Amino acid sequence: MQSGTRTPLRCPLCDGELTSTRIKQIGDVTAHLRWEIHAGECPEHGWFQAEVISKPPREVFPVHRLGGATRRVQIEGRDVFAFPTVWNSMDARTIVDPLDPELWKIDWERLRLRSPVAGSTT
Ligand SMILES: [Zn+2]
Repeated sequence: MQSGTRTPLRCPLCDGELTSTRIKQIGDVTAHLRWEIHAGECPEHGWFQAEVISKPPREVFPVHRLGGATRRVQIEGRDVFAFPTVWNSMDARTIVDPLDPELWKIDWERLRLRSPVAGSTT
């Protein structure tokens, strides 16, 4: 477990940088499989976690704590248990950099919600 590692993972709710970021290597480094769990904590919105298996994560999960169970986040009165990423809507055969931050962005259209980041706070 590495600590304070750079990750494209950001808070889905405020797009803020996460603290206590962790990257846990699961895959065998010698195998041609990059398998990692990225996690971090938003001071305001709690822990989030995403899995990289050679490709960008398809979803970002809100979790109770590092490696913990998925928790529920309420947005505009709706329960959300996972945030699909931009990569989720792309052809999985596309060759991409698994750590390209653009592909880690939350696909709010797919969630049928307005991005809390882009929306006004009033
Ligand atoms: Zn946040």
